[in-house]
Amino acid sequence: MKIRTLARTLVVTFFAQCISLDAAIVVEKLMHHRSGDNKNVLELPLELGKVVFYLSNEPHVTALKEESRNNKKVASFVLPDIALTPALNQMLTSLKQSNSAHYSVNISPVKNPEQGLLLSITYDPNYVTIAHDSFVAIGMQKGLVFYLYNKKLLDTIQNKELPVLQTACLDKKKSSIVIDCGHGGNDSGAVSPSGILEKEVALEIGKKVSQLLTKQGYQVHMTRNSDATVDIDDRTTFANTHNAGLLVSIHANFAGNIKASGVETFFLDGALLKQQDSLQQVMQGYKTQLYKSNYVLSRCLQEKVLSYVKTKNPQVVDRKVKKAVSQLLIGVTMPAALIEVGFLSNLKESYYLKDEEYQNLLSKGIAEGIVSYLTNLC
Ligand SMILES: [Zn+2]
Repeated sequence: MKIRTLARTLVVTFFAQCISLDAAIVVEKLMHHRSGDNKNVLELPLELGKVVFYLSNEPHVTALKEESRNNKKVASFVLPDIALTPALNQMLTSLKQSNSAHYSVNISPVKNPEQGLLLSITYDPNYVTIAHDSFVAIGMQKGLVFYLYNKKLLDTIQNKELPVLQTACLDKKKSSIVIDCGHGGNDSGAVSPSGILEKEVALEIGKKVSQLLTKQGYQVHMTRNSDATVDIDDRTTFANTHNAGLLVSIHANFAGNIKASGVETFFLDGALLKQQDSLQQVMQGYKTQLYKSNYVLSRCLQEKVLSYVKTKNPQVVDRKVKKAVSQLLIGVTMPAALIEVGFLSNLKESYYLKDEEYQNLLSKGIAEGIVSYLTNLC
């Protein structure tokens, strides 16, 4: 009898552990995208920062409380059922601390009221307002994003009825351009069967694009111009603090199907985000305009790159422009697109991607796509 009870207890414990492991949500990535520390908040973008969680399952967020502490507010949210793993501890330690004078973010594991993560945002309510959305990311992870909006800028736009475009970092005339060469350093990205590295292809093309645009008088910033390791949230913060008019990220693709080939361009669209909070009208206007710009920029790039590449590779496949949430695209405050210039998993295309003449055509296409976007020619 006792043995049977013990056995039953063991079985129940075993299943309970399985169930609790199943139920636990794993944090796969945690990002803090920032927009700089300018004391004059009116010179900062509408989005002062974003904290983004990439999770194995859809989380339930509980807004715990909002309290006042010496002219500041502290908003607390709980994410229950989060697996408290060593990897998560590592992420929490290396979370980029806010360098904003206007808010600070703290995330810590908690046991009460439920086991999970406690997110506390301390902010000056005169300068910051908070909202959150959820989404499904490019790697099918479930995402959760907390936005820290620039309240002073929102109020200024609203009160003076200023056009959102000219004040919210979407102004094409602010034509400084950020070129992001994917991967780098420790992160090779995709590798072709013959050993061609995505990080090298992206860097070669990015440098050529930068030269072409600089020659035409544009101011270009590169998130890396050597074989350096650069974290995604450092790339986004770099772009956001350079007050750029647009960002283009350059990558090469990889697929299990070795026949897959061609060019595709990704952009962030609001349809991918499940809006959790009702936004002020001016914010809606800004987002609508941002998503539209993302689409137009992507279309310009896709069209121009294909037209150049076809001269050498007439069979190139147009894989079109596609909506996606990537860690980079969601992290930046300006119109942005991520172009996959070809497949390293496809033998023929991988040799094209390594070929300097082909890289020149890709670069001309990207540079021309950017200029067409900036001059409303596509
Ligand atoms: Zn890549």
